[in-house]
Amino acid sequence: MELNPIRQLSQLPAVDQILRSKALAELALRFPQRHLTKWTRTSIENHRQQILRGEEHTPENLLESIVSGVMQLAQQDTRGSLQRVINATGIMLHTNLGRSPLAERAIHRIRELAAYTNLEMDLTSGNRNRRGERVTRMIAELTGAEDCLVVNNCAAATILALQAIAAGSEVIVSRGQLVEIGGGFRLPDVFRSAGVTLCEVGTTNRTYLRDYQTHCSDATGAILRVHRSNFAQVGFVSEPGIEQLVTLKKPSSVPVIDDLGSGCVIDLSSFGIHEPMVQDSVSAGADLCLFSGDKLFGGPQSGILVGKSGWIERLRSHPLMRALRPDKTTLAALEATTEIHLSKQALEELPLYQMLSRSETSVRQACERLATGIPSSAVKAEVVPSVSQFGGGSVPGVEISSFALSLRTEANESLVTAMRCGTPAILARQANDQVLLDLRTVLPHEMESLQTRLSDCIREHG
Ligand SMILES: *Cc1c(COP(=O)(O)O)cnc(C)c1O
Repeated sequence: MELNPIRQLSQLPAVDQILRSKALAELALRFPQRHLTKWTRTSIENHRQQILRGEEHTPENLLESIVSGVMQLAQQDTRGSLQRVINATGIMLHTNLGRSPLAERAIHRIRELAAYTNLEMDLTSGNRNRRGERVTRMIAELTGAEDCLVVNNCAAATILALQAIAAGSEVIVSRGQLVEIGGGFRLPDVFRSAGVTLCEVGTTNRTYLRDYQTHCSDATGAILRVHRSNFAQVGFVSEPGIEQLVTLKKPSSVPVIDDLGSGCVIDLSSFGIHEPMVQDSVSAGADLCLFSGDKLFGGPQSGILVGKSGWIERLRSHPLMRALRPDKTTLAALEATTEIHLSKQALEELPLYQMLSRSETSVRQACERLATGIPSSAVKAEVVPSVSQFGGGSVPGVEISSFALSLRTEANESLVTAMRCGTPAILARQANDQVLLDLRTVLPHEMESLQTRLSDCIREHG
């Protein structure tokens, strides 16, 4: 029987009828009624246009198709929401993917403390106490510092330190260290916003201790060293280390501040990685050290300040601190992560270090297993050597040998989009006509859903 367009149009359901359908009951729990009504109208209108263009719908499939149109619109709406991502880029601290994955112990602690917790209460006395009391004591112990303070990220730590210590005066920095950290966060701008005058010394490639000494004056408020954590300088370069900077002749009211950024607290030389360690900076005598909690520390986004108690106390009581203080879930995860470092379990428990220490063979075998499940007609799949990186503005230039599953298809771009847009999202790298999945950064429990989703994507788009 030929379907008459006029008859079909008359069978288009009312908005109410769609909204009452069982299939939308679950959506009604997640989205405001207003949105569901709007999507329903849109979906009905889309179907009206289809019928006018001559597409045919039987009465039963018309309803079903309109409902599925509403579901698609709802799904598009959730694209911007936070969701799980499988990171097959091989970049371990990908800033756009939230940097360090948390340890199970930290995830568990967040779950435990997400409702009420004694964030600012001593349960023994019932009195108010300092937020983050235990975790700051533990970080001080770990780094050998007198005291510690935690803020929302290392950028916040920098601003707080500069403003509380040197507002209205000069801060001396080497020209080789006036960096942009990323996301447009540039040190000279930070200085300006903290009300500090920048006193640049030395040259891009060479700065000497005497350059600092000559510029040290009554106007000096602090001396800042910035670790080149996201780029490397090679060749004719030289600059004094923190152990030399602390020997400068200056009043005790002028602290030496070490912005370490990446915040390495474990010796990585067995991996061929030589990052300055926070402990070394503290024992060399830096007055204040700043670093991120979610780079090499392997914890949640946070900024950690350690150093001499007088300086830390000054920052703690600064009004800006009220705007920079971290919440209970951050402190919960940071406390668990610090316990792991203190008990020397980092290689066993922190995902970052599990990835780093994973053998090439283990990564290659995972790639081979993944390759066997790939529907082979549409793509050419092979296991190839790859290079993993720290990323996240940490440990520049260090390349970690790895393996990747390489996929070549007629339409790489649409495969990559399909992988990225499904649930869970899969992020891969693209290079030389290949889609590369470096499995060093894929956690073992993610392999099964990676396999399933990848096969689906290839079947549909390959
Ligand atoms: C990464 C970095 C920062 C900024 O840290 P966030 O935690 O991202 O705010 C500051 N200084 C240095 C040297 C860094 O490497």
